[in-house]
Amino acid sequence: MHSNISLPGLEAFIITKSFERDGYYQLHVELKREPHHCPCCGQITNRVHDYRLQKIKHNHLFSRSTLLFYRKRRYVCVNDECKKRFYEKNTLVERYQRQSREFNQAMSLELIGGKNFKDVASRFDTSPTTVMRRFDQIGLSMLQETKQLPEVIAIDEYKGDAGGEKYQTVIADPIDRKPLDILKDRKKETLKAYLRKHGGNVKVVVMDMSPSFKAAVDQA
Ligand SMILES: [Zn+2]
Repeated sequence: MHSNISLPGLEAFIITKSFERDGYYQLHVELKREPHHCPCCGQITNRVHDYRLQKIKHNHLFSRSTLLFYRKRRYVCVNDECKKRFYEKNTLVERYQRQSREFNQAMSLELIGGKNFKDVASRFDTSPTTVMRRFDQIGLSMLQETKQLPEVIAIDEYKGDAGGEKYQTVIADPIDRKPLDILKDRKKETLKAYLRKHGGNVKVVVMDMSPSFKAAVDQA
């Protein structure tokens, strides 16, 4: 079956097969062949070297756990002095990942709104370790993206167990109701250092009266 229906995260892909097996919705996907710039010498090439099949966990589609089989194309540079082999560009999955970006994104949102790792893991049909690793990753990536916090922030605890720490600290925007950052623990020093760096514009802090949080905010 060749289908052009657009599924979340798969807009650019051609679905060559779709069926249900072992309780999973399984899709075989590939990208259209198109000229790529060689990452080494810049030469444009459209010569295919080979294909690899990559198995990826994706978001639930039609309320079913979904597995993708991505036929990933490798191009080879046509410049005889270069001959570099490289994978096609794709927005579906990052290198060395077994979950799609969409899957990770959906899991991140759940993680922040969810109660604990076990709960999120069971809903995403994955292991608490995977969820935990994801938690560490979003913590890191969000921190880099958040430059300055808004005027009103909320600070809350999150029972996470990430990286050996039982609790993390969530910094959120209570007006737009979205998480802004996750700190690796709930230590006063961590929060203080964070607010000093990013909290120049903060005027109002909404929080539980955790003595440790209060002290950190007062001192930052
Ligand atoms: Zn090249």
